[in-house]
Amino acid sequence: MNKSDEIIALHKQYVMPTYSPGPVLVRGEGTRVWDADGKSYLDFLAGISVLNVGHCHPTVVEAIRKQAGKLMHVSNLYYNENQPRLAEMLSARSLGGKCFFCNSGAEANEALIKLARLWGQPQGKYEVITMKNSFHGRTLATLTATGQDKVQKGFEPLPQGFAYAEFNDLDSIKAALTDKTAAVLIEAIQGEGGIIPADPAFMKGLRELCTEKKILMLCDEVQCGMGRTGHWFGFQAYDVVPDAIAMAKAIAGGMPMGAVVATPELSDVFQPGHHASTFGGTPLACAAALAVIQVIEEENLLHNVSEMGALLKTKLEQLSSKYKVIESVRGMGLMVAIVLNKPAKDLYPRLMKHGLLTLTAGEKAIRFLPPLNITSGDVLEAVHILDETLAEWQKELDTKK
Ligand SMILES: *Cc1c(COP(=O)(O)O)cnc(C)c1O
Repeated sequence: MNKSDEIIALHKQYVMPTYSPGPVLVRGEGTRVWDADGKSYLDFLAGISVLNVGHCHPTVVEAIRKQAGKLMHVSNLYYNENQPRLAEMLSARSLGGKCFFCNSGAEANEALIKLARLWGQPQGKYEVITMKNSFHGRTLATLTATGQDKVQKGFEPLPQGFAYAEFNDLDSIKAALTDKTAAVLIEAIQGEGGIIPADPAFMKGLRELCTEKKILMLCDEVQCGMGRTGHWFGFQAYDVVPDAIAMAKAIAGGMPMGAVVATPELSDVFQPGHHASTFGGTPLACAAALAVIQVIEEENLLHNVSEMGALLKTKLEQLSSKYKVIESVRGMGLMVAIVLNKPAKDLYPRLMKHGLLTLTAGEKAIRFLPPLNITSGDVLEAVHILDETLAEWQKELDTKK
């Protein structure tokens, strides 16, 4: 048995089969990872948009090392030095109000939903309208917020207080409004659903509608936030200001962390006793997050996202005219997908075999979420691997006919 087989066998014996993982990865550096058998991969998934500054960025590693030897955790019964510094950084780059810290995207969305309910309660409002094809997490409330049957199936009865509307269709949101509606929750760019950006007119219209109806506009920035689109947060590409946002994935560079940031108006809705998280905002996770923000700014990564995103999109569009299996290319910044006319799950393992890590998004899209500090060399290499893989696949498809 080689090393990978041994680990896979152990995993299958003792870890619940909620995923069907790929190779056993043992080491990462920048845009590259290596498996237990020494094979290297170009990582255009970045741990699902978590490693926005790449694997083991020295600044992040050093910050974690230093903090780990000093103070890792104190609980929120005590102040810690890093949490308010991070809150200030996140606030200044988003909505200007206060933060709540937790540990994951689902928890951050759960906090948004609780915030909306607590805010709406005096007026008898509690319903949250979410979009079909959205993704907000796997806890009971957030899987109910997620507008996809496959995520909800088997877990009924689902919590009450959710309604669904069509993404990019303002009339459909209007139709879902009731006098119980407290908020609309939306991803500016749908991630798991297929890398589908909101239309600018829809986002503007939604903001106006929420203001007019006196309900909250909430943005799930878990995947499209932290620089992914070339803006700090996805909503900023639309020139609208939501009332509160949820973030997670990339905040702390690979340390688990989630957060909510609100506008100043909503900053004091949660009072002592309303919400909590033992691990929320530990000195260790906050140290990592502070380092991530420092790297994004010192290395001018938002600019790099725009440049590399444009290059990647151009190159993918060239491939799309070369291969009939690609129907279109869509996305924003370094949150990009090719949409296929075949199931995306047929292509994604082939890319992995050729040394390129990606992921499906929806049924038909392959998404690319590389670290934000990729170079043009990385982009060209990824496109080259894609080109070769598609050529091979196209040939197989043609001979099958
Ligand atoms: C990944 C994701 C979540 C869930 O985050 P977890 O950390 O897995 O709970 C929620 N919303 C969006 C948009 C996501 O991409």
